[in-house]
Amino acid sequence: MIYDVIIIGAGITGAMTARALSRYELKLAIVEAGSDVASGATRANSAIVHAGFDAANGTLKAKLNARGCAMMPEVCAALDVPYKNNTSLVIAFGDDEENKLEELRARGEANGVEGLRIIGKDELHALEPSLSDNATAALLAPSAGIVCPYELATAACENAVVNGADFITGFKVDNIIKEENLISVCSGDKTLTARFVVSAAGCAADEIAAAAHEESFPVKIIPRRGEYMLMDKKLGSLAKATLFMLPSAAGKGVLVSPTVDNNLIIGPNAHEVEKGDTSTTSAGLDEILAGAKRLIPSIDTRSVITSFAGVRATPSTDDFYIEESASVPGLLHAAGIESPGLASSPAVAEYVKDKLVSMGLDLTERKDYIPTRRAYGHMKKHFRDMTDDEKNEAIKNDPAYGRIICRCETVTEGDIVEAIHSPLGSSSLDMIKRRTRAGMGRCQGGFCSVRVVDIIARELGVDMSEVVKDSPASRLLYGKTK
Ligand SMILES: Cc1cc2nc3c(=O)[nH]c(=O)nc-3n(C[C@H](O)[C@H](O)[C@H](O)COP(=O)(O)OP(=O)(O)OC[C@H]3O[C@@H](n4cnc5c(N)ncnc54)[C@H](O)[C@@H]3O)c2cc1C
Repeated sequence: MIYDVIIIGAGITGAMTARALSRYELKLAIVEAGSDVASGATRANSAIVHAGFDAANGTLKAKLNARGCAMMPEVCAALDVPYKNNTSLVIAFGDDEENKLEELRARGEANGVEGLRIIGKDELHALEPSLSDNATAALLAPSAGIVCPYELATAACENAVVNGADFITGFKVDNIIKEENLISVCSGDKTLTARFVVSAAGCAADEIAAAAHEESFPVKIIPRRGEYMLMDKKLGSLAKATLFMLPSAAGKGVLVSPTVDNNLIIGPNAHEVEKGDTSTTSAGLDEILAGAKRLIPSIDTRSVITSFAGVRATPSTDDFYIEESASVPGLLHAAGIESPGLASSPAVAEYVKDKLVSMGLDLTERKDYIPTRRAYGHMKKHFRDMTDDEKNEAIKNDPAYGRIICRCETVTEGDIVEAIHSPLGSSSLDMIKRRTRAGMGRCQGGFCSVRVVDIIARELGVDMSEVVKDSPASRLLYGKTK
Protein backbone atom coordinates (compact mmCIF):
# COMPACT_ATOMS: atom_id res chain seq x y z
CA MET A 1 0.00 0.00 0.00
CA ILE A 2 1.14 3.55 -0.64
CA TYR A 3 0.37 5.98 2.16
CA ASP A 4 -0.47 9.59 1.47
CA VAL A 5 1.46 10.67 4.56
CA ILE A 6 3.78 8.86 6.96
CA ILE A 7 4.51 10.67 10.23
CA ILE A 8 7.74 9.73 11.96
CA GLY A 9 7.40 9.99 15.75
CA ALA A 10 4.35 9.76 18.02
CA GLY A 11 5.15 12.57 20.44
CA ILE A 12 2.71 15.43 20.76
CA THR A 13 3.81 16.90 17.41
CA GLY A 14 3.26 13.65 15.50
CA ALA A 15 0.08 12.73 17.36
CA MET A 16 -1.57 16.13 16.89
CA THR A 17 -0.51 16.20 13.23
CA ALA A 18 -1.99 12.74 12.70
CA ARG A 19 -5.25 13.87 14.27
CA ALA A 20 -5.36 17.04 12.15
CA LEU A 21 -4.77 15.04 8.95
CA SER A 22 -7.20 12.25 9.88
CA ARG A 23 -10.06 14.67 9.19
CA TYR A 24 -9.36 14.17 5.45
CA GLU A 25 -9.56 11.29 2.98
CA LEU A 26 -5.92 10.27 3.42
CA LYS A 27 -4.09 7.00 4.03
CA LEU A 28 -1.99 7.82 7.10
CA ALA A 29 0.62 6.00 9.13
CA ILE A 30 2.39 7.07 12.31
CA VAL A 31 5.62 5.16 12.87
CA GLU A 32 7.22 5.25 16.30
CA ALA A 33 10.60 3.88 17.41
CA GLY A 34 9.40 3.27 20.96
CA SER A 35 6.75 0.88 22.21
CA ASP A 36 4.10 3.54 22.88
CA VAL A 37 2.95 7.05 22.09
CA ALA A 38 4.97 9.76 23.88
CA SER A 39 8.27 7.92 24.12
CA GLY A 40 10.33 11.15 24.02
CA ALA A 41 10.04 14.67 25.47
CA THR A 42 6.24 14.43 25.49
CA ARG A 43 6.46 11.85 28.27
CA ALA A 44 8.41 14.02 30.71
CA ASN A 45 7.98 17.79 30.79
CA SER A 46 6.39 20.53 32.91
CA ALA A 47 2.95 20.08 31.30
CA ILE A 48 2.32 23.81 31.09
CA VAL A 49 0.18 25.40 28.41
CA HIS A 50 2.28 28.54 28.25
CA ALA A 51 0.43 31.74 27.43
CA GLY A 52 3.07 32.82 24.88
CA PHE A 53 4.97 35.80 26.33
CA ASP A 54 8.34 34.08 26.48
CA ALA A 55 9.31 33.54 22.81
CA ALA A 56 11.05 36.38 20.93
CA ASN A 57 8.72 38.53 18.82
CA GLY A 58 8.39 37.47 15.20
CA THR A 59 9.50 33.86 15.73
CA LEU A 60 7.45 30.88 14.62
CA LYS A 61 7.52 29.73 18.25
CA ALA A 62 5.86 32.96 19.36
CA LYS A 63 3.13 32.73 16.73
CA LEU A 64 2.32 29.06 17.30
CA ASN A 65 2.47 29.29 21.10
CA ALA A 66 -0.17 32.01 21.37
CA ARG A 67 -2.40 30.21 18.85
CA GLY A 68 -1.88 26.77 20.43
CA CYS A 69 -2.69 28.10 23.89
CA ALA A 70 -5.94 29.57 22.56
CA MET A 71 -6.86 26.28 20.85
CA MET A 72 -5.99 24.01 23.77
CA PRO A 73 -9.22 24.15 25.85
CA GLU A 74 -11.34 23.11 22.86
CA VAL A 75 -8.91 20.40 21.76
CA CYS A 76 -8.78 18.93 25.27
CA ALA A 77 -12.58 19.00 25.52
CA ALA A 78 -12.90 17.19 22.16
CA LEU A 79 -10.38 14.56 23.25
CA ASP A 80 -11.75 14.27 26.81
CA VAL A 81 -8.37 15.07 28.33
CA PRO A 82 -8.13 17.05 31.56
CA TYR A 83 -7.15 20.69 31.11
CA LYS A 84 -7.13 23.40 33.76
CA ASN A 85 -6.93 27.11 33.04
CA ASN A 86 -5.00 27.72 36.26
CA THR A 87 -3.20 30.88 34.94
CA SER A 88 0.51 31.60 35.42
CA LEU A 89 2.56 34.09 37.40
CA VAL A 90 6.13 35.17 36.69
CA ILE A 91 7.40 36.19 40.10
CA ALA A 92 9.72 39.15 40.65
CA PHE A 93 11.90 39.54 43.74
CA GLY A 94 12.72 43.26 44.10
CA ASP A 95 12.94 46.33 41.87
CA ASP A 96 15.38 45.02 39.24
CA GLU A 97 13.23 42.01 38.48
CA GLU A 98 10.04 44.08 38.52
CA ASN A 99 11.43 46.16 35.65
CA LYS A 100 11.95 42.98 33.64
CA LEU A 101 8.29 42.04 34.08
CA GLU A 102 7.43 45.06 31.92
CA GLU A 103 9.66 43.72 29.13
CA LEU A 104 7.93 40.36 29.31
CA ARG A 105 4.50 41.96 29.22
CA ALA A 106 5.43 44.02 26.16
CA ARG A 107 6.85 40.94 24.43
CA GLY A 108 3.71 38.95 25.24
CA GLU A 109 1.40 41.66 23.94
CA ALA A 110 3.39 41.84 20.69
CA ASN A 111 3.01 38.03 20.44
CA GLY A 112 -0.77 38.46 20.67
CA VAL A 113 -1.22 37.24 24.26
CA GLU A 114 -4.31 38.80 25.79
CA GLY A 115 -4.99 39.91 29.35
CA LEU A 116 -1.40 40.14 30.63
CA ARG A 117 -1.27 42.22 33.80
CA ILE A 118 1.40 43.10 36.35
CA ILE A 119 0.12 42.68 39.88
CA GLY A 120 1.55 44.10 43.11
CA LYS A 121 2.57 42.37 46.31
CA ASP A 122 -0.83 42.46 48.08
CA GLU A 123 -2.79 40.98 45.19
CA LEU A 124 -0.04 38.44 44.54
CA HIS A 125 0.02 37.15 48.13
CA ALA A 126 -3.76 37.07 48.27
CA LEU A 127 -3.74 34.82 45.19
CA GLU A 128 -0.83 32.65 46.37
CA PRO A 129 -0.66 32.60 50.18
CA SER A 130 2.23 30.07 50.30
CA LEU A 131 4.53 32.24 48.19
CA SER A 132 7.78 33.57 49.72
CA ASP A 133 7.47 36.90 51.52
CA ASN A 134 10.32 38.16 49.33
CA ALA A 135 8.13 38.04 46.20
CA THR A 136 7.20 41.63 45.36
CA ALA A 137 5.22 41.55 42.08
CA ALA A 138 4.27 39.26 39.23
CA LEU A 139 3.19 39.09 35.60
CA LEU A 140 -0.23 37.40 35.54
CA ALA A 141 -1.13 35.48 32.36
CA PRO A 142 -4.84 34.58 32.54
CA SER A 143 -4.78 32.29 29.48
CA ALA A 144 -2.12 29.85 30.78
CA GLY A 145 -3.11 26.33 31.78
CA ILE A 146 -2.01 22.80 32.54
CA VAL A 147 -2.63 19.44 30.82
CA CYS A 148 -1.35 15.88 31.01
CA PRO A 149 1.03 15.70 28.02
CA TYR A 150 1.15 11.94 27.47
CA GLU A 151 -2.61 11.64 27.95
CA LEU A 152 -3.11 14.35 25.34
CA ALA A 153 -0.75 12.65 22.88
CA THR A 154 -2.40 9.26 23.49
CA ALA A 155 -5.86 10.73 22.97
CA ALA A 156 -4.84 12.54 19.77
CA CYS A 157 -3.20 9.42 18.36
CA GLU A 158 -6.17 7.29 19.36
CA ASN A 159 -8.52 9.73 17.62
CA ALA A 160 -6.40 9.49 14.45
CA VAL A 161 -6.45 5.68 14.63
CA VAL A 162 -10.23 5.61 15.08
CA ASN A 163 -10.39 7.77 11.95
CA GLY A 164 -8.39 5.22 9.99
CA ALA A 165 -4.69 5.96 10.60
CA ASP A 166 -2.24 3.08 11.14
CA PHE A 167 -0.09 3.31 14.27
CA ILE A 168 3.06 1.21 14.11
CA THR A 169 5.38 0.93 17.14
CA GLY A 170 8.91 -0.50 17.25
CA PHE A 171 9.60 1.11 13.85
CA LYS A 172 12.83 3.08 14.23
CA VAL A 173 13.42 4.84 10.92
CA ASP A 174 17.03 4.29 9.83
CA ASN A 175 16.88 4.97 6.09
CA ILE A 176 14.77 7.20 3.84
CA ILE A 177 14.93 6.74 0.08
CA LYS A 178 13.48 9.17 -2.45
CA GLU A 179 12.22 7.44 -5.62
CA GLU A 180 10.37 9.42 -8.30
CA ASN A 181 7.30 10.86 -6.56
CA LEU A 182 7.42 8.49 -3.60
CA ILE A 183 9.45 8.25 -0.42
CA SER A 184 10.36 4.92 1.20
CA VAL A 185 10.79 4.93 4.95
CA CYS A 186 12.80 1.98 6.25
CA SER A 187 13.40 0.38 9.61
CA GLY A 188 15.78 -2.58 9.30
CA ASP A 189 14.19 -4.89 6.74
CA LYS A 190 10.75 -3.22 6.92
CA THR A 191 9.78 -0.56 4.38
CA LEU A 192 6.74 1.69 4.09
CA THR A 193 6.11 4.03 1.18
CA ALA A 194 4.32 7.37 1.04
CA ARG A 195 3.87 10.43 -1.11
CA PHE A 196 4.73 12.73 1.81
CA VAL A 197 6.67 12.18 5.04
CA VAL A 198 6.61 14.34 8.17
CA SER A 199 9.57 14.05 10.51
CA ALA A 200 8.37 14.72 14.06
CA ALA A 201 11.17 12.83 15.77
CA GLY A 202 12.06 15.25 18.58
CA CYS A 203 15.73 14.92 19.58
CA ALA A 204 16.27 12.63 16.56
CA ALA A 205 15.28 15.29 13.99
CA ASP A 206 18.88 15.57 12.75
CA GLU A 207 19.19 11.76 12.59
CA ILE A 208 16.13 11.63 10.33
CA ALA A 209 17.74 14.24 8.06
CA ALA A 210 20.89 12.07 7.97
CA ALA A 211 18.78 8.96 7.25
CA ALA A 212 17.31 10.87 4.29
CA HIS A 213 20.88 11.51 3.06
CA GLU A 214 20.46 15.28 3.36
CA GLU A 215 23.77 16.95 2.83
CA SER A 216 23.25 19.87 5.14
CA PHE A 217 20.53 20.14 7.75
CA PRO A 218 20.28 23.72 9.03
CA VAL A 219 19.39 22.84 12.63
CA LYS A 220 21.72 21.31 15.18
CA ILE A 221 19.78 19.63 17.97
CA ILE A 222 21.25 20.19 21.43
CA PRO A 223 19.81 17.68 23.93
CA ARG A 224 19.14 19.54 27.19
CA ARG A 225 17.84 17.63 30.19
CA GLY A 226 15.39 18.94 32.77
CA GLU A 227 14.90 17.16 36.09
CA TYR A 228 11.77 17.17 38.24
CA MET A 229 10.32 16.12 41.55
CA LEU A 230 6.66 15.22 41.87
CA MET A 231 5.03 15.84 45.25
CA ASP A 232 2.16 14.14 47.00
CA LYS A 233 -1.37 15.46 46.45
CA LYS A 234 -1.40 16.89 49.95
CA LEU A 235 1.01 19.60 48.66
CA GLY A 236 -1.03 20.17 45.49
CA SER A 237 -2.70 23.28 46.87
CA LEU A 238 0.59 25.05 47.72
CA ALA A 239 0.44 26.69 44.29
CA LYS A 240 -2.75 27.53 42.43
CA ALA A 241 -1.24 29.17 39.37
CA THR A 242 1.95 27.98 37.67
CA LEU A 243 4.72 29.96 39.37
CA PHE A 244 7.73 30.89 37.25
CA MET A 245 10.89 32.78 38.03
CA LEU A 246 12.09 35.31 35.49
CA PRO A 247 13.38 33.53 32.37
CA SER A 248 17.09 33.66 31.55
CA ALA A 249 19.30 32.61 28.62
CA ALA A 250 19.22 29.06 30.06
CA GLY A 251 15.43 28.87 29.78
CA LYS A 252 12.36 29.48 31.85
CA GLY A 253 14.01 28.36 35.09
CA VAL A 254 12.56 26.29 37.92
CA LEU A 255 8.78 26.46 38.26
CA VAL A 256 6.31 25.26 40.84
CA SER A 257 2.92 24.15 39.55
CA PRO A 258 -0.08 22.05 40.41
CA THR A 259 -0.72 19.21 37.95
CA VAL A 260 -4.09 18.33 36.46
CA ASP A 261 -4.17 15.39 38.86
CA ASN A 262 -3.65 17.70 41.89
CA ASN A 263 -0.03 16.81 42.62
CA LEU A 264 2.64 19.51 42.84
CA ILE A 265 5.50 19.48 40.32
CA ILE A 266 8.82 21.28 40.80
CA GLY A 267 11.58 21.68 38.20
CA PRO A 268 13.18 21.72 35.68
CA ASN A 269 16.85 22.60 35.52
CA ALA A 270 18.62 22.68 32.14
CA HIS A 271 21.84 20.79 31.42
CA GLU A 272 23.28 19.50 28.17
CA VAL A 273 23.44 15.69 28.11
CA GLU A 274 23.73 12.82 25.64
CA LYS A 275 20.52 12.15 23.70
CA GLY A 276 18.18 9.89 25.66
CA ASP A 277 19.82 10.50 29.04
CA THR A 278 16.77 10.77 31.29
CA SER A 279 18.60 9.91 34.50
CA THR A 280 18.18 12.08 37.58
CA THR A 281 21.10 13.19 39.76
CA SER A 282 21.22 14.20 43.40
CA ALA A 283 22.96 17.47 42.44
CA GLY A 284 20.21 18.21 39.90
CA LEU A 285 17.43 17.48 42.35
CA ASP A 286 19.12 19.69 45.00
CA GLU A 287 19.29 22.45 42.39
CA ILE A 288 15.58 22.34 41.61
CA LEU A 289 14.62 22.04 45.26
CA ALA A 290 16.61 25.20 46.04
CA GLY A 291 14.86 27.00 43.15
CA ALA A 292 11.41 25.84 44.21
CA LYS A 293 12.02 26.84 47.85
CA ARG A 294 12.89 30.34 46.70
CA LEU A 295 9.29 30.52 45.40
CA ILE A 296 7.58 28.48 48.15
CA PRO A 297 9.77 28.04 51.25
CA SER A 298 7.51 25.41 52.86
CA ILE A 299 8.14 22.80 50.14
CA ASP A 300 9.94 19.84 51.67
CA THR A 301 11.29 16.56 50.35
CA ARG A 302 9.21 14.34 52.67
CA SER A 303 6.36 14.73 50.20
CA VAL A 304 8.31 13.72 47.09
CA ILE A 305 6.73 10.65 45.50
CA THR A 306 8.99 10.35 42.46
CA SER A 307 11.62 12.14 40.40
CA PHE A 308 12.11 12.03 36.64
CA ALA A 309 13.75 13.87 33.75
CA GLY A 310 12.97 14.79 30.15
CA VAL A 311 15.30 15.90 27.35
CA ARG A 312 14.57 19.00 25.29
CA ALA A 313 15.38 19.03 21.56
CA THR A 314 16.89 22.52 21.79
CA PRO A 315 17.57 23.89 18.28
CA SER A 316 20.77 25.81 17.51
CA THR A 317 18.55 28.31 15.64
CA ASP A 318 16.43 29.05 18.75
CA ASP A 319 13.16 28.60 16.86
CA PHE A 320 10.86 25.86 15.63
CA TYR A 321 11.94 24.71 12.16
CA ILE A 322 9.03 23.47 10.05
CA GLU A 323 10.29 23.33 6.47
CA GLU A 324 10.39 20.99 3.48
CA SER A 325 13.73 19.25 3.03
CA ALA A 326 15.98 21.06 0.57
CA SER A 327 17.17 17.82 -1.01
CA VAL A 328 14.25 15.38 -0.49
CA PRO A 329 11.05 16.93 -1.89
CA GLY A 330 8.01 15.61 -0.03
CA LEU A 331 9.85 15.30 3.30
CA LEU A 332 8.74 17.92 5.83
CA HIS A 333 10.82 18.50 8.96
CA ALA A 334 9.16 19.57 12.21
CA ALA A 335 12.41 20.06 14.10
CA GLY A 336 13.62 21.96 17.13
CA ILE A 337 10.22 21.63 18.77
CA GLU A 338 11.42 22.43 22.27
CA SER A 339 9.30 24.26 24.84
CA PRO A 340 6.62 25.54 24.25
CA GLY A 341 6.09 22.60 21.89
CA LEU A 342 3.34 21.10 24.00
CA ALA A 343 1.40 24.36 24.33
CA SER A 344 1.86 25.04 20.63
CA SER A 345 1.02 21.52 19.44
CA PRO A 346 -2.52 22.10 18.06
CA ALA A 347 -1.19 25.09 16.11
CA VAL A 348 1.95 23.21 15.02
CA ALA A 349 -0.33 20.50 13.60
CA GLU A 350 -2.33 23.08 11.63
CA TYR A 351 0.89 24.67 10.38
CA VAL A 352 2.27 21.27 9.28
CA LYS A 353 -1.01 20.52 7.48
CA ASP A 354 -0.88 23.85 5.63
CA LYS A 355 2.77 23.25 4.66
CA LEU A 356 1.86 19.84 3.26
CA VAL A 357 -0.90 21.46 1.19
CA SER A 358 1.61 23.97 -0.15
CA MET A 359 3.84 21.00 -1.05
CA GLY A 360 1.02 19.45 -3.12
CA LEU A 361 -1.10 17.37 -0.72
CA ASP A 362 -4.81 17.44 -1.67
CA LEU A 363 -7.32 17.49 1.16
CA THR A 364 -10.93 16.30 0.92
CA GLU A 365 -12.94 16.25 4.15
CA ARG A 366 -14.09 12.81 5.26
CA LYS A 367 -17.83 12.47 5.65
CA ASP A 368 -17.42 9.97 8.49
CA TYR A 369 -14.80 11.93 10.48
CA ILE A 370 -15.14 11.45 14.25
CA PRO A 371 -13.84 14.63 15.91
CA THR A 372 -14.17 13.51 19.51
CA ARG A 373 -12.80 10.77 21.71
CA ARG A 374 -13.93 9.71 25.17
CA ALA A 375 -11.77 8.54 28.08
CA TYR A 376 -11.87 4.90 29.21
CA GLY A 377 -14.07 3.46 31.88
CA HIS A 378 -17.72 2.70 32.36
CA MET A 379 -19.84 5.47 30.80
CA LYS A 380 -16.56 6.83 29.39
CA LYS A 381 -15.44 8.01 32.80
CA HIS A 382 -12.72 6.74 35.09
CA PHE A 383 -14.21 5.13 38.20
CA ARG A 384 -12.63 7.79 40.46
CA ASP A 385 -14.48 10.54 38.54
CA MET A 386 -17.93 8.96 38.85
CA THR A 387 -20.65 10.05 41.25
CA ASP A 388 -21.73 7.49 43.88
CA ASP A 389 -24.80 6.61 41.80
CA GLU A 390 -22.66 6.12 38.69
CA LYS A 391 -20.25 3.93 40.68
CA ASN A 392 -23.11 1.75 41.91
CA GLU A 393 -24.46 1.38 38.39
CA ALA A 394 -21.01 0.58 36.98
CA ILE A 395 -20.47 -2.17 39.59
CA LYS A 396 -23.94 -3.58 38.96
CA ASN A 397 -23.20 -3.78 35.21
CA ASP A 398 -19.71 -5.16 35.64
CA PRO A 399 -18.39 -6.33 39.03
CA ALA A 400 -14.81 -5.61 37.82
CA TYR A 401 -15.55 -1.95 38.65
CA GLY A 402 -16.03 -3.00 42.27
CA ARG A 403 -12.48 -4.33 42.55
CA ILE A 404 -10.01 -1.53 43.35
CA ILE A 405 -6.55 -2.44 42.02
CA CYS A 406 -4.65 0.82 42.65
CA ARG A 407 -5.71 2.14 46.03
CA CYS A 408 -3.69 5.38 45.82
CA GLU A 409 -5.42 6.54 42.61
CA THR A 410 -8.69 4.57 42.91
CA VAL A 411 -8.25 2.58 39.70
CA THR A 412 -10.51 -0.44 39.30
CA GLU A 413 -10.07 -3.67 37.40
CA GLY A 414 -12.81 -2.40 35.05
CA ASP A 415 -10.76 0.71 34.18
CA ILE A 416 -7.68 -1.43 33.49
CA VAL A 417 -9.50 -3.98 31.33
CA GLU A 418 -10.94 -1.20 29.22
CA ALA A 419 -7.50 0.41 28.74
CA ILE A 420 -6.06 -2.96 27.65
CA HIS A 421 -8.68 -3.21 24.90
CA SER A 422 -8.64 0.49 23.92
CA PRO A 423 -7.92 1.52 20.29
CA LEU A 424 -4.14 1.79 20.85
CA GLY A 425 -4.11 -1.20 23.22
CA SER A 426 -2.12 -1.40 26.47
CA SER A 427 0.16 -4.39 26.92
CA SER A 428 2.76 -3.18 29.44
CA LEU A 429 2.72 -2.03 33.04
CA ASP A 430 3.70 1.54 32.08
CA MET A 431 1.05 1.78 29.37
CA ILE A 432 -1.58 0.95 31.99
CA LYS A 433 0.03 3.49 34.29
CA ARG A 434 -0.12 6.24 31.68
CA ARG A 435 -3.67 5.34 30.56
CA THR A 436 -5.30 4.82 33.97
CA ARG A 437 -2.87 6.23 36.63
CA ALA A 438 -2.56 2.80 38.30
CA GLY A 439 0.86 3.01 39.99
CA MET A 440 1.11 6.83 39.85
CA GLY A 441 0.22 7.43 43.48
CA ARG A 442 2.06 7.68 46.75
CA CYS A 443 3.23 4.02 46.74
CA GLN A 444 4.33 4.20 43.07
CA GLY A 445 2.92 0.80 42.19
CA GLY A 446 4.22 -1.01 45.28
CA PHE A 447 0.83 -2.62 45.91
CA CYS A 448 -0.78 -2.82 42.48
CA SER A 449 1.97 -3.69 39.97
CA VAL A 450 1.69 -7.47 40.32
CA ARG A 451 -2.09 -7.36 40.12
CA VAL A 452 -1.92 -5.19 36.98
CA VAL A 453 0.54 -7.64 35.36
CA ASP A 454 -1.83 -10.48 36.24
CA ILE A 455 -4.79 -8.68 34.60
CA ILE A 456 -2.78 -7.85 31.43
CA ALA A 457 -1.64 -11.49 31.13
CA ARG A 458 -5.19 -12.78 31.62
CA GLU A 459 -6.78 -10.35 29.13
CA LEU A 460 -4.13 -10.85 26.43
CA GLY A 461 -3.83 -14.61 26.99
CA VAL A 462 -0.08 -14.54 27.65
CA ASP A 463 2.11 -15.77 30.50
CA MET A 464 2.78 -13.19 33.25
CA SER A 465 6.51 -13.42 32.53
CA GLU A 466 5.84 -12.02 29.04
CA VAL A 467 4.38 -8.76 30.39
CA VAL A 468 7.06 -6.06 30.39
CA LYS A 469 7.40 -2.78 32.26
CA ASP A 470 7.80 -0.61 29.13
CA SER A 471 10.23 -1.49 26.32
CA PRO A 472 10.44 -5.11 25.10
CA ALA A 473 13.69 -5.55 27.08
CA SER A 474 12.24 -4.35 30.40
CA ARG A 475 11.17 -7.73 31.75
CA LEU A 476 9.57 -7.83 35.18
CA LEU A 477 9.31 -11.57 35.88
CA TYR A 478 11.72 -14.28 34.80
CA GLY A 479 9.91 -17.40 36.01
CA LYS A 480 8.89 -19.24 39.14
CA THR A 481 11.25 -19.94 42.04
CA LYS A 482 9.17 -22.88 43.27
C1 LIG B 1 12.21 19.31 30.62
C2 LIG B 1 11.19 19.75 29.63
C3 LIG B 1 10.17 20.63 30.00
C4 LIG B 1 9.24 21.06 29.08
N1 LIG B 1 8.16 21.79 29.49
C5 LIG B 1 7.22 22.16 28.59
C6 LIG B 1 6.05 22.84 29.01
O1 LIG B 1 5.79 23.02 30.18
N2 LIG B 1 5.19 23.29 28.04
C7 LIG B 1 5.43 23.10 26.73
O2 LIG B 1 4.66 23.58 25.92
N3 LIG B 1 6.50 22.38 26.30
C8 LIG B 1 7.38 21.90 27.22
N4 LIG B 1 8.44 21.16 26.83
C9 LIG B 1 8.61 20.89 25.41
C10 LIG B 1 7.72 19.76 24.95
O3 LIG B 1 7.79 18.67 25.83
C11 LIG B 1 8.17 19.37 23.56
O4 LIG B 1 8.19 20.51 22.75
C12 LIG B 1 7.26 18.35 22.93
O5 LIG B 1 7.00 17.28 23.79
C13 LIG B 1 7.94 17.86 21.65
O6 LIG B 1 7.14 16.88 21.09
P1 LIG B 1 7.64 16.13 19.79
O7 LIG B 1 6.55 15.23 19.40
O8 LIG B 1 8.14 17.11 18.81
O9 LIG B 1 8.92 15.31 20.28
P2 LIG B 1 8.98 14.02 21.21
O10 LIG B 1 7.97 14.03 22.25
O11 LIG B 1 10.39 13.87 21.63
O12 LIG B 1 8.58 12.84 20.22
C14 LIG B 1 9.43 12.38 19.22
C15 LIG B 1 9.08 10.92 18.98
O13 LIG B 1 9.81 10.45 17.87
C16 LIG B 1 10.25 9.14 18.13
N5 LIG B 1 11.41 8.86 17.30
C17 LIG B 1 12.67 9.35 17.44
N6 LIG B 1 13.47 8.84 16.49
C18 LIG B 1 12.71 8.05 15.71
C19 LIG B 1 12.99 7.26 14.56
N7 LIG B 1 14.21 7.19 14.02
N8 LIG B 1 11.98 6.53 14.02
C20 LIG B 1 10.72 6.58 14.57
N9 LIG B 1 10.41 7.32 15.67
C21 LIG B 1 11.40 8.05 16.22
C22 LIG B 1 10.57 9.17 19.62
O14 LIG B 1 10.59 7.86 20.17
C23 LIG B 1 9.46 10.03 20.17
O15 LIG B 1 8.35 9.29 20.59
C24 LIG B 1 9.36 20.66 27.74
C25 LIG B 1 10.36 19.75 27.37
C26 LIG B 1 11.22 19.25 28.32
C27 LIG B 1 12.19 18.20 27.94
